[in-house]
Amino acid sequence: MYAEKVFQLMEQYLYCPDCGNQFVGNGTGSINITEDQFTRTCECGFQKTIKIPE
Ligand SMILES: [Zn+2]
Repeated sequence: MYAEKVFQLMEQYLYCPDCGNQFVGNGTGSINITEDQFTRTCECGFQKTIKIPE
């Protein structure tokens, strides 16, 4: 289910919920995925970390 959850999160957070920015990289934001966490940050200050259940 891991891949499915990650895919769902990426879709959900493709656009920053605060400012609508969809770009990552070059200091505009980032998506960081580890084994059990999904983190989305944005240049507007938005940051969210979601635990991915196994
Ligand atoms: Zn933003």
